Amino acid sequence: MTAIPAAPGASSLTLICDHCGRAYPDTGTEWLVLWRAATAAGWDGRDRAVGPHRCDACG
Ligand SMILES: [Zn+2]
Repeated sequence: MTAIPAAPGASSLTLICDHCGRAYPDTGTEWLVLWRAATAAGWDGRDRAVGPHRCDACG
């Protein structure tokens, strides 16, 4: 599971790289919006919140 709630009970998501553990600097409330921004920034992986995902440094 690589997209996790930013805080307990929060509605926002944090995207984390499965390879190095780095977190994408932005959070989002909508998975696809966050993922599209991340892929534009060089992240790669499945377009599902469950991953796997790789950051721009690992991808
Ligand atoms: Zn990484």
